[in-house]
Amino acid sequence: MHTILLVDDSELELKALSSILQKEHYTIVTLTEGSRVLQVLREKKIDLVLLDIVMQQKSGLEILVDIKSRNDVETLPEIMVTGRTDAVNVKAALESGAVDYIRKPFEELEILARVRSALRIKDYQEKLQYLSTHDGLTGLLNHVSTLAAYEALYHEAQKNSVPFAVCMLDIDHFKDINDKYGHLIGDKLLQQLGILIHNHFSVNGFAGRYGGDEFIIVLRNFSKEMAVSSAEAFRKHISGKQWDSIYPGLGVTVSIGISVYSSTRYFEGHQQLIEDADDALYVAKDKGRNLVEFSKEI
Ligand code: GH3
Ligand code: MG
Repeated sequence: MHTILLVDDSELELKALSSILQKEHYTIVTLTEGSRVLQVLREKKIDLVLLDIVMQQKSGLEILVDIKSRNDVETLPEIMVTGRTDAVNVKAALESGAVDYIRKPFEELEILARVRSALRIKDYQEKLQYLSTHDGLTGLLNHVSTLAAYEALYHEAQKNSVPFAVCMLDIDHFKDINDKYGHLIGDKLLQQLGILIHNHFSVNGFAGRYGGDEFIIVLRNFSKEMAVSSAEAFRKHISGKQWDSIYPGLGVTVSIGISVYSSTRYFEGHQQLIEDADDALYVAKDKGRNLVEFSKEI
């Protein structure tokens, strides 16, 4: 169900618009003070804004520019409501990022159609956004968005001197599992493991599929000890788990390499932590697999 924010300094106009839109069972939020729009957008989950262009205090165009300059709400669709017959305001609104406009006096059928159309496009865009940032098989973040989230956290940690841990997790002998049981079973295993990784680690950070059978887990405010203990608990859980729902008798183990950001250490670049965790993962593989290894201290 969609929530629509209506902004107009006339209570009468708000009532008229609300009664039309409520026929389609949208949740309606109304606002007469344009200066409070950003605050409302921060506090409520709004799907569409209908913004009157001509208002006493702050014009709809000014509010539109405010919304479009804010990263957290810039993709929100706005439909401008205009009583003017000249095309200048409409042109300015569309050029500033509004998706559509409605002219007063209101035509009920037209309003409902334009609102439906704007919401349909918004839903498609959200779906596309999800598909382009998440891995199709596991539902975790994909390679590119995991690295983007990691990089953002790295810079945040540098600014605020907060530690965090990076874990690289890789299934042991996954190729053999594929060869022995088939790729479909391999896929099911990746899916299940993705869910387990999410459930075990995501409350403390985020996890992504780095590629193939390799996952990256980033844990906010985690020291070396905390990361090793959490990774070790997960490794044990995986090796002791029955995987009969995927294939009777299937056994699975994982190896995990860990590195930790610390403000007292010099890093050549943000990639270095990932490389360190990857090196530790390969030490775990070399030592025989089904192990958690911490990167060598520098
Ligand atoms: P190691 O213990 O050294 O990690 O050995 P491994 O066999 O797990 O490592 P390797 O990198 O040789 O094999 C990873 C395999 O993962 C190879 C590839 O066919 C398989 N793989 C990658 N992506 C997928 C996928 O989406 N589904 C399935 N079923 N297999 C995949
Ligand atoms: Mg592997």
